[in-house]
Amino acid sequence: MPFALQAAILPQHMAKKKIVITLDGWSSCGKSTLAKQLAQELNYIYVDSGAMYRAITLYFLRNHVDWTDTEAVVNALENITLEFVYNEKSQQSEMHLNGENVEYVIRDLVVAEKVSDVAAVKEVRTFAVAQQQKMGKKKGIVMDGRDIGTVVFPDAELKIFMTADNAVRVERRFKELFAKNPNVSIEEVKANLEMRDYIDSHREVSPLRKADDAVILDNTHLTEEQQFNKAIQLVQQRTTSTVS
Ligand code: C5P
Repeated sequence: MPFALQAAILPQHMAKKKIVITLDGWSSCGKSTLAKQLAQELNYIYVDSGAMYRAITLYFLRNHVDWTDTEAVVNALENITLEFVYNEKSQQSEMHLNGENVEYVIRDLVVAEKVSDVAAVKEVRTFAVAQQQKMGKKKGIVMDGRDIGTVVFPDAELKIFMTADNAVRVERRFKELFAKNPNVSIEEVKANLEMRDYIDSHREVSPLRKADDAVILDNTHLTEEQQFNKAIQLVQQRTTSTVS
């Protein structure tokens, strides 16, 4: 349990029905951090849908697949198997592409530069969304992405739309990438975030937008703990409504 306070917020006697929680929002606004904390707290499955689009992009780049060519895309997708495999050491589910652990390499800026173009391709989305919906069949899942509350799980019990000021998001992502690669510049990171946000929110298929019934969570001035507490209160409202 990330924050001890929560034991008091979710008393034992309350019914805890399993729900679907969706976290959508702009790039680098802390979706995965919150999603992992919620999943851990609630003993839910966490699915990073962005990792799936990143892994597909990696496959396309490595195999020189032209994603503007529908036939090439359809053929390539037939050769792609995506799996989330739990790693005891990191205590996280990691993305495997055709049996190879690609969790680290998909975070590279080379992949980030192309992922939004690949994710805008209809066939790619159909492929990923079908797998995401399957994972949520039994509920008890937290999934983050761009279209999870609007397209993947339109009936989800809790939808959160996360946002934060641009400068804060750039700084956060820069720190993350710089730790892995000191050659990365803040200008590159800023340009990449702006480009992805633009493509993600302007594409024809499943553009990033807030679902009408999503709750906005702006974490510009929130600590991780404050953000978590707000989210867990929303979960509590949705999971305790059927107490008999
Ligand atoms: O979440 P993350 O930043 O890792 O996602 C990488 C990219 O994957 C996004 O910029 C977006 O283009 C795409 N994506 C998407 N739909 C999702 C999740 C991610 O289009 N549900």
